[in-house]
Amino acid sequence: MPNMSPESTPLRHDWSRAEVRALFDLSFPELLHRAASVHKAHFDPAEVQVSTLLSVKTGGCPEDCAYCPQAQRYHTGVDATKLMSTEAVLEKAKQAKAAGASRFCMGAAWRSPKDRDIPKVAAMIREVKSLGLETCATLGMLSGEQAQKLKAAGLDYYNHNLDTAPEFYNEIIRTREFQDRLDTLEHVRDAGMKTCCGGIVGMGESREQRAGLLQTLANLPAHPDSVPINRLVQVEGTPLAGTTELDPFEFVRTIAVARLMMPKSMVRLSAGRESMSDELQALCFLAGANSIFYGEKLLTTGNPDTERDLALFARLGLRPMQVVETAGTVHASIEDHEALPAHTCAA
Ligand code: SF4
Repeated sequence: MPNMSPESTPLRHDWSRAEVRALFDLSFPELLHRAASVHKAHFDPAEVQVSTLLSVKTGGCPEDCAYCPQAQRYHTGVDATKLMSTEAVLEKAKQAKAAGASRFCMGAAWRSPKDRDIPKVAAMIREVKSLGLETCATLGMLSGEQAQKLKAAGLDYYNHNLDTAPEFYNEIIRTREFQDRLDTLEHVRDAGMKTCCGGIVGMGESREQRAGLLQTLANLPAHPDSVPINRLVQVEGTPLAGTTELDPFEFVRTIAVARLMMPKSMVRLSAGRESMSDELQALCFLAGANSIFYGEKLLTTGNPDTERDLALFARLGLRPMQVVETAGTVHASIEDHEALPAHTCAA
């Protein structure tokens, strides 16, 4: 077992499954102690990066991701919408910035964008960027050329999740291959953008398969800059409705192992946070989570309302991480602001 504690521990991309399993199998206190030590070596544990996610095009997706209420083949009550106008997106981004978000993520329920969509999304990116926000998009699979165009428009991050371990993947998605996801991530890296890439737990996978997800993420050519760890939100009408709930401590373990394996990445609590108690979220922060989505909704599922988030930050002595740009420090504390309008997401 490698020594995980010093700040000087080099980033590794050669994790074996047995090593990852051994981390998962540590006693809970030992695992959390190690993860908190590594977190503190690389970050201020009192700081949490705050992102806001806006669904710029909801529903009607041709893919079959078994957890997703936006897949048109499942009857979940999600109405399909057209791509929002740049003006409408800009208005939401202004509200997010005023509420304290440092990063604004735009999500579209596409298998992949059509080439004719790229100039429209590029215009959104340019406008959001001009507010001094970091920009992120999640639009499905990208070609190399599309990635280059989004980068040229000023896109900082591209989200594309692996979702789960390679060996469990076909239980969840059949309309695209695991390799397709790796290819898109490669195009994003080659274009010079940062990657946001994680997965979903609680989909019926085993601990071995959770280890497989984290092993694959950490063994990518570069650790994702952001690693969203989603807890399945069970939506009636999707194939995963009724799945046995994951033990909350196992969720915390997953966060802690992600922190140990990808010590310099932002580990994000994403979908599923609404159903977590304050105590569970606090354990996640202790285990090394240092990023959240902030706002009332994540794409089409709920997210803790901002009042509750503000209260939790205050009770735990946490503060939002600030983004420093050439123009100075962007943004304010998340205190004193009204709740964002409902309309944010996380796939
Ligand atoms: S997760 Fe994304 S690609 Fe899969 S069905 Fe939902 S919107 Fe489509």
